[in-house]
Amino acid sequence: MALRFALMIDPLAADDTRSDFTSTFTAVDPAAPALTVGELSTQRGDGIFESIGVVDGHPQEVEAHLERLAHSAELCDLPVPNIGQWRAAVANAAAECGSGEGVVKLILSRGIEHGPTPTAWATAAAAADFTAPRTSGIRVVTLDRGYAIDAPARAPWLLLGAKTLSYAVNMAALREAHRRGADDAIFLSSDGFVLEAPTASLILRRGDTFVTPAPNGGILHGTTQLSLFEHLAERGFETAYETIPVDELRRADAAWLVSSVRLAAPIIELDGAALDIDAEFTASLNTYLLSPRD
Ligand code: PLP
Repeated sequence: MALRFALMIDPLAADDTRSDFTSTFTAVDPAAPALTVGELSTQRGDGIFESIGVVDGHPQEVEAHLERLAHSAELCDLPVPNIGQWRAAVANAAAECGSGEGVVKLILSRGIEHGPTPTAWATAAAAADFTAPRTSGIRVVTLDRGYAIDAPARAPWLLLGAKTLSYAVNMAALREAHRRGADDAIFLSSDGFVLEAPTASLILRRGDTFVTPAPNGGILHGTTQLSLFEHLAERGFETAYETIPVDELRRADAAWLVSSVRLAAPIIELDGAALDIDAEFTASLNTYLLSPRD
């Protein structure tokens, strides 16, 4: 995914009330080196990020992403982000996405070792083509994540609800899924509950009720899932957060992986067993997700 645009951000204190952030932004050549070798984001994955879907120049669900950025910063003991400044950075980057689907990434790193401040930047790029997973569906395998559903309460230092830059484990799980002949994975807790995918939330359907794993089970609270639940409630469906045993997933009427850039991908196969997909219903979800959302 070639970057179209990159913006270095001089992060302001949260209580800085200015409304013009121009002097805190520096557009840089996205193909040129911009970080120093002392960066803790690159040395240790010590930082947080957000990936925001952009459709025809409109960044989707910006406030939900900025709220999650602030939540991740709090969990990681990073300085509280100045939301006005990050909102302006998103607007600048989204304006560079052009027509069609794009992605804006926000990164807040702990900064340079022994350095004075965090390092922050935003990028814009065209999105990959997700037409096939959205329409033909995806094959998924379940993978053990190795800790129990109560791990976040017992071990908050695992930062399970934060969107940290430490995604090496998530990428390894995707490679394992590919080795097993699948497109994606769903993590299970060691005590057999359904969690999330390495880069997506899970929603399953039971009749007219849509269910997703409760965010207190050590998963990221997805902005796409939140937005879809609002939409489904408006259409008269029930929605619920639950602790979901894996057998319940196997019995679901339908299931989707959802995230900001892929949107809703229906699961056609789970651990080798076929799952029904409702192509028309899934298309209606993706039509909603592609409409401007705030
Ligand atoms: N869970 C994980 C681990 C993710 O990495 C992501 C997105 O990248 C999600 C869930 C879905 O979050 P969102 O819908 O905000 O993109």
